[in-house]
Amino acid sequence: MAKTHKRLRLPGMKCRAAARTDASAGADRARLTSVRRALLAWARTAGRRFFWRKREVSPFALLVTEILLSRTRAQSVEPVALRLLARFGQPTDLAMADIPEVERILRPLGLHRKRASRLVECARQLVSRFNGQVPSSPDELMTLPYVGRYAANAVACFGFGQRRAVIDANVSRVYQRLFSLPPPPARLSAADGLWEFGRRLLPHRGLSARAFNWAILDLGGTICTPRRPLCSLCPVAFTCDAHGKGTCGCAS
Ligand code: SF4
Repeated sequence: MAKTHKRLRLPGMKCRAAARTDASAGADRARLTSVRRALLAWARTAGRRFFWRKREVSPFALLVTEILLSRTRAQSVEPVALRLLARFGQPTDLAMADIPEVERILRPLGLHRKRASRLVECARQLVSRFNGQVPSSPDELMTLPYVGRYAANAVACFGFGQRRAVIDANVSRVYQRLFSLPPPPARLSAADGLWEFGRRLLPHRGLSARAFNWAILDLGGTICTPRRPLCSLCPVAFTCDAHGKGTCGCAS
């Protein structure tokens, strides 16, 4: 079983000690580095392969896909997003789309009427406000309808190579278990401390940050599942607080 570690603090959390020692900060840094390395190495062979992770995918295709991924499994989204983007590959195409046709394509995902009107509205705003281009800044992306903090940061990181944290419920659960973080608020987008923590954990180069975000999303989606996590297959079990304390709920 893994050893336990001193609890890492979220930015903004009060520290009981008046000041942290250099040795303690150094141990934190070394631990975060080992987590980054282990995750990136694991993802090179075990990471999931989706079409939206290919280099040639446009920011618009990423934006559409991220909106569809909201509360929906990636495996279900992939064939539908491919069909939609083959028919409406540019913001101008989707902005002028016949909404019933978009609804028919989205039907396998459920909530197809709502999703279709959202996507078309978003494309119309891209055309009217951004000259048909996807903006690269998360602040601008979040002014688009139905684009929240997660989707905005995902497009900025995966589409534009920016060093941005990408935190959904799966990633939040991994961090909570791995680093003994407190439970996040119900609205994850408001958990500023967690987003800042996620940003600090990223490798320093944009491309590695992208690979790291995909790795942590995959870990949360396939190994560190809500129930019965597969800790025996986990690349960061050696440093996981929950696994070390035996509170993770795994079978091993
Ligand atoms: S060791 Fe288990 S609980 Fe910890 S991060 Fe890995 S899968 Fe999750």
